[in-house]
Amino acid sequence: MGLIVQKFGGSSVADAEGLKRVASRIVATKKAGHQVAVVVSAMGDTTDELLDLAEQVTPMPNGRELDMLLTAGERISMALLAMAIGNLGHEARSFTGSQAGVLTTSTHGKARIIDVKPGRIVEALNDGAIAIVAGFQGINQDTNDVTTLGRGGSDTTAVALAAALEADVCEIYTDVDGVYTADPRIVPSARKLDSITYEEMLELAASGAKVLHLRCVEYARRFDLPIHVRSSFSNNEGTWVVKDHPGGASGDNMEQAIIAGVAHDKTEAKITIVGVPDRTGVAARIFQTIADADINIDMIVQNVSAAATGLTDISFTLPKSDGAEATRILKDIQGEIGFHSIQYDDQIGKLSLVGAGMRSHPGVTATFFACLADAGLNIEMISTSEIRISVIVREGDLEKGVKAAHTAFDLDVDDEAVVHGGTGR
Ligand code: ASP
Ligand code: MG
Repeated sequence: MGLIVQKFGGSSVADAEGLKRVASRIVATKKAGHQVAVVVSAMGDTTDELLDLAEQVTPMPNGRELDMLLTAGERISMALLAMAIGNLGHEARSFTGSQAGVLTTSTHGKARIIDVKPGRIVEALNDGAIAIVAGFQGINQDTNDVTTLGRGGSDTTAVALAAALEADVCEIYTDVDGVYTADPRIVPSARKLDSITYEEMLELAASGAKVLHLRCVEYARRFDLPIHVRSSFSNNEGTWVVKDHPGGASGDNMEQAIIAGVAHDKTEAKITIVGVPDRTGVAARIFQTIADADINIDMIVQNVSAAATGLTDISFTLPKSDGAEATRILKDIQGEIGFHSIQYDDQIGKLSLVGAGMRSHPGVTATFFACLADAGLNIEMISTSEIRISVIVREGDLEKGVKAAHTAFDLDVDDEAVVHGGTGR
């Protein structure tokens, strides 16, 4: 007998049918002799619909009120799920994030979990009940206001709760069979991975793979908590996210593929600052200005300055949603720094290749670039880590690039990946 935390995403509980299916799955785990705590997302596209509603009321919703609104989505699904379980003859108690002791920072819309004090969850489990917790939300203890963790944050709630409860495993149920070598919605021949390391999963999640929330993987790694990503529509074994691949340390296991997967991201834009004086302190001034606005940047490229002019161009990528703000604040320092102009481009896509085997296998970059060239793609920016290569290409070329890289690294399999439900929205 163990303690299992199960998380069900929005597409798994999209309607009454889905809620009932998930309820019987939870009850089956309970009947197998485990204690079960469940984290649930809002039904289907509820969060998007609530966001649309807010937008119809005001172009700039207040952060506190928006969080109040969005947390309602998870409250609906948790209560209905508890009722569905009750109908199967088992006791379930639902809890909001704040009732479950999820304590966060105060930043509305992207709060971070500081601590989880799951006293009421432990009590429910000890009473033999199934605990259902609303995902993606918590409370800040200074303001006493409810917060949300950012889109897709229920994964992080589940892992944080599992860590606090010292659970044996955190099962993340989704609409695909596990973590794939590429998004199966784009590459139907993508292969399901049996296991992937925290390190590789972090790089994939940071590169746009949406199967797991980035912070949930960071959390799991910190607490060395195994995550089992699997489908709520089948009983198939999914993908284990663990410290090392079974049978060898990451990277030096000969059986292990060199490449874990190909990720893509269409959410970034590129800003180029043209004609920047090549002087000490200029880059620092530019990026401090961006940082002060709480904007995260990703890739940066600076060219050598032309000898005749002493001017250079600096390009960087950032979330599209921060594009307007970044352009505005850079214009404010244009006179002070003395650059020529700013170019904004939101038609870019990021393509990333991730694999721990890159460390020990030369030639990965060459193969990657050659396959992109063969597919007719032009590379605009490049960045690397020890186990990742990312390039910026035209957004319209992105899917072609994903398929080309997937094939070039022999990742294709014959049977088509099954994608259940989910609009991918
Ligand atoms: N319901 C929230 C969202 O759609 C949180 C989640 O699904 O994890 O982003
Ligand atoms: Mg969702």
